[in-house]
Amino acid sequence: MKQFAVLQLSGCAGCEVSLLNAEEWVERYQLVYMPLVVSAYDVPAVDVLLVSGGVRTDEDLYKLRKAVKQAQQVVAVGTCAISGGVANLGNRDDVRALFLAREERYHVPHLLPKSHPVDAMVGVDLYLPGCPPTPELFMAALSDPAAYQASKTVCGECGRKKVREMRPEHLLGFQQGRVLPDICLINQGYLCIGSSTRGGCRAPCTRAGHPCVGCRGPSDAFIEKESAAWLASIQKVFAAMTDIPPDEVEAALRSPHLALFLFQFADYAGTSRPKEKVL
Ligand code: SF4
Ligand code: SF4
Repeated sequence: MKQFAVLQLSGCAGCEVSLLNAEEWVERYQLVYMPLVVSAYDVPAVDVLLVSGGVRTDEDLYKLRKAVKQAQQVVAVGTCAISGGVANLGNRDDVRALFLAREERYHVPHLLPKSHPVDAMVGVDLYLPGCPPTPELFMAALSDPAAYQASKTVCGECGRKKVREMRPEHLLGFQQGRVLPDICLINQGYLCIGSSTRGGCRAPCTRAGHPCVGCRGPSDAFIEKESAAWLASIQKVFAAMTDIPPDEVEAALRSPHLALFLFQFADYAGTSRPKEKVL
């Protein structure tokens, strides 16, 4: 039976909870290390090492370098491990100052000067983006990633209809107003960026009426480009479907709420993350 381990670096444990919801693996794979449920002193030799969270502390780096030596395959799991996410919020000066001001925290692992994606430190065989990746995506990563069928973008999996006759003039705030069923959230004035976000999640957020925030990162069309190209494509969609001033869209895209996913080392350009390695 294939053995796998989950190494949790700086993140929120949401990725682990999603993995635990993919109960199908229980019959087929043996989980040998995951501090949340299977404690072990050290990560043993495994077929697959799933790494969640970003490299934020000296302890993260030490554990990561040690664990990959014994793994046949390394999978970077979730936005934090791949492109920033919550772990990267500590790069903000105010968060850092707050953390360092607490004397009683002298005994916790030391923060590195900035956070890093996993592939800045070790080789990665497969990327599993999402915040968190869905249970179905975890199963695909463990079994046969190449066979996983997904639409190019979240729009392809959403099921909501884009209509010409609804052109909003301003954005509606997140979770404001009453969301109409079946109609595209952009037509209703919400900042949904599913049109250029990587498909494969099956659009649980937009189906439920929550705009896509881009946690799966850019679709193949933008994945090897700078994040500015992704941003420009979102603006284009809003220009075509709405009368919302571009400045208003730009400001909303740069809000902390979305910057978590969009602008934290999101550039794949010049990195060794070819789209073929991204599920
Ligand atoms: S990617 Fe999202 S769910 Fe996973 S550890 Fe980071 S914040 Fe949590
Ligand atoms: S823009 Fe958002 S709501 Fe509209 S179809 Fe695409 S994913 Fe669905």
